[in-house]
Amino acid sequence: MKRYSRRTVMFAAPLTILRGQSASPQYELLIRGGHVVDPWQNLSAVRDVAIAQGKVARIAKSIPESEAAQVLEAKGMIVTPGLIDVHVHVYDGVAPLGIPADPNCIAKGVTTVLDAGSAGAHTFPGLRKYVINVVDTRVYALLNISVIGQSTLSPGNPWGELLDIRYANPKLTAKTIEQNRDRILGVKIRLTENIAGKHDLDALKLAREAADAVQLPLMAHIGGTFSTLPKILDLLRPGDVITHTFRQEAGGILDDRGRVLPEVKRAVANGLRLDVGHGAGSFGWAVAESAMKQDVVPATISSDVHQYNVHGPVLDLATTLSKFMHLGMTLEQVIERATKNPAQTFGFPQGLGTLKPGSEGDVAVFKLDQGDFMLFDSVKQSRIVHRRLLPVATVKSGRIYGSASIPVVTL
Ligand SMILES: [Zn+2]
Repeated sequence: MKRYSRRTVMFAAPLTILRGQSASPQYELLIRGGHVVDPWQNLSAVRDVAIAQGKVARIAKSIPESEAAQVLEAKGMIVTPGLIDVHVHVYDGVAPLGIPADPNCIAKGVTTVLDAGSAGAHTFPGLRKYVINVVDTRVYALLNISVIGQSTLSPGNPWGELLDIRYANPKLTAKTIEQNRDRILGVKIRLTENIAGKHDLDALKLAREAADAVQLPLMAHIGGTFSTLPKILDLLRPGDVITHTFRQEAGGILDDRGRVLPEVKRAVANGLRLDVGHGAGSFGWAVAESAMKQDVVPATISSDVHQYNVHGPVLDLATTLSKFMHLGMTLEQVIERATKNPAQTFGFPQGLGTLKPGSEGDVAVFKLDQGDFMLFDSVKQSRIVHRRLLPVATVKSGRIYGSASIPVVTL
């Protein structure tokens, strides 16, 4: 049995084969022979994917290599749209949880991310200037209702951004969103008691006011709250999202006897979306197993990758997807929750999260490794999973990012 170490997901040295020049090929890149999973097209079959001018140009059973300048050999691999992770923290060096986006996102098959509230109205300009405008990963954001953005650094300073509710400012939040609608896709609030104190519902009402003003989704981080989850759900609307759904502590989705709260089921039936947000403290195998047996499944699978989980237990989004395959979802179902569903939940620009011809040329290639792998949750419990997705190559707008660990043939 192999322990899943960080080293195993590093890319191998690039293997590039040069075959001389061909006369002005039609496609820049051909991703050849992989098993393509694109839930938006109901596609799960071996296909070639051709990219021209940074966009997906054609998907077919066989596209001649003579029509492409470069070929990525994906035989035996899984090929998906560039993944979308709707809960990450990439305000590197500023927000306490922040990590660099590129080595943890695009290098791992995640071409598009949503930074979930690292920045608030006062600190968003820096996220835009020093992260969004600079990194290769496509970074979008949810704006924290607290103007200072995230402030906890547990255990060093566990006092959160809403303990003083005066920092929750719906007017400034809405104004900043209006000025940055191209990059801000919603509002974020963290409700745990060390962050939002005993006035969590008052803070949530202010977040509600901001989200309503700009007509965008509100993502609420649950677990360990002063108020009960049903009271929190009362303030959420169809199209809103709760993250940390499978958190194993008080304030979660299960009652004392392990049954999913009827209020959660009702909210989901009315259009509330459940997000995973694995994180360092927010995914319990036992909770997920119990909830899924009761037909409660996530709409989006996100990692909440940050400084305190990137070396384990989260590692990357592909590992979180592998955990949900172990929980009984098919490969297609987990890919849907990291491509189509996130794109629809948060209104990302058209052309992300699918390989439909004309969409952005963002592609992720994975090896579906078989064996026995021990994967941990956030409360030190492990399961032996038998399949895991390993990122082996990422393509953004038709260009191979970094080095692929599968053959790249330049014709
Ligand atoms: Zn988070």
